Amino acid sequence: MAETGCDFTYCRMRGIMSILTAFIKERKMGVNDFMQKLVSCPHICKHSNVKGFLKIEDNNCDEIDEFESSMFCLNGPRSSLAEETQIKPCHFDYLKIIGKGSFGKVLLSRHKETSKYYAIKVLQKKVVLKKKEQRHIMAERSVLLKNLKHPFLVGMHFSFQTPDKLYFVLDYVNGGELFYHLQRERVFLEPRARFYAAEIASALGYLHSLHIVYRDLKPENILLDSQGHIVLTDFGLCKEGLEPNGTTTTFCGTPEYLAPEVLQKQAYDHTVDWWCLGCVLYEMLYGLPPFYSRNTAEMYNNILHKHPVLQPNVSNAGRELLEGLLHKNRTQRLGAREDFMELKCHSFFSPINWDDLVAKKITPMFVPSVNGPTDLQHFDPEFTHLPVSSSVCNSDAIALTNSVREAAGAFPGFSYGPHTDHCFH
Ligand code: AMP
Repeated sequence: MAETGCDFTYCRMRGIMSILTAFIKERKMGVNDFMQKLVSCPHICKHSNVKGFLKIEDNNCDEIDEFESSMFCLNGPRSSLAEETQIKPCHFDYLKIIGKGSFGKVLLSRHKETSKYYAIKVLQKKVVLKKKEQRHIMAERSVLLKNLKHPFLVGMHFSFQTPDKLYFVLDYVNGGELFYHLQRERVFLEPRARFYAAEIASALGYLHSLHIVYRDLKPENILLDSQGHIVLTDFGLCKEGLEPNGTTTTFCGTPEYLAPEVLQKQAYDHTVDWWCLGCVLYEMLYGLPPFYSRNTAEMYNNILHKHPVLQPNVSNAGRELLEGLLHKNRTQRLGAREDFMELKCHSFFSPINWDDLVAKKITPMFVPSVNGPTDLQHFDPEFTHLPVSSSVCNSDAIALTNSVREAAGAFPGFSYGPHTDHCFH
């Protein structure tokens, strides 16, 4: 009897255990679903209770924590789906090299099945790891992943990886770099410079509203689409998770546009983007960056100590705006108090109707002449004449050396699979 009772108890316990296990499993899946929904809404992620729950700290200046939390927030719940992504390099034809960044190339590519054109950015893991830039690459990916939707920001469709390379599948933007057009024309007339500055400012204002600092604004990262509207690319140096009063101290950026606080390795914040916008606007109006010198040391000295030279061939409103944006003290810079709103209200932009601007209802003053997607006249022949290396589309045959093996696993959760609104059709 005792044995039967014991068996009975054991059976009951097992029954209870299996019910509990099933219950926990179901709850776990529920929590997973819940987490997926939670992290796919950046604005909810920013709520202090949610942050507490997800263990994301405010003003997280510790880079490792920040990296891990952004990985958790953006990749964690998605990673199983993402790494199973079926997209492979061989699904695309790689037609031309259209640009080069510090970590790799950008190629005009066509998806074989749909014949759609994309710009695919291919980065060598080795190079990224050597430059200890994983964090920036992952930041780029997670920034692009945040369902960023803005008319003047490049859209990403997919990301995937092979043992030795990382791939970003981006909208193909074929009007050429702003820099390319600026170099050809030397300067832009004020209405045209105003239009570009307004579109750029509106994209930056949008990023700031999501607590993202773009940080690396320069003409090479500002493209024109086929209609002549701005598209900002390269989120490689974006800094995520900056709260309105948050600051950060990582040193990056392009020498000509480095803000004084970045140069001095002081804390900086979203106002660094308004400084860079000032530099770009200055270059559009005057033909050279504001503190330019061939001698880098002198240029740094100019950035820190010299007043920008504002010749009178630019309107008073334009010069006043430049002075405001190029204020060396970031706390007194235009945009320090109310960010984008302060720029919107500046008299230089009074001809701009901001609602029309964002709705792309303002007709660009310049439309790049483009005859279809394969017309590469606005890209630098220095790149387009380069042969497309077969290694871009063939990673399967690489030798698994130690460094490749090491690189292969260094980017967990990088891949980003088809999302309902990002399908190839
Ligand atoms: P990046 O590495 O993002 O700085 O890109 C290097 C260059 O490639 C840019 O300066 C552009 O000329 C070109 N590029 C980058 N993204 C795109 C894109 N989505 N469409 C067309 N060209 C691009």
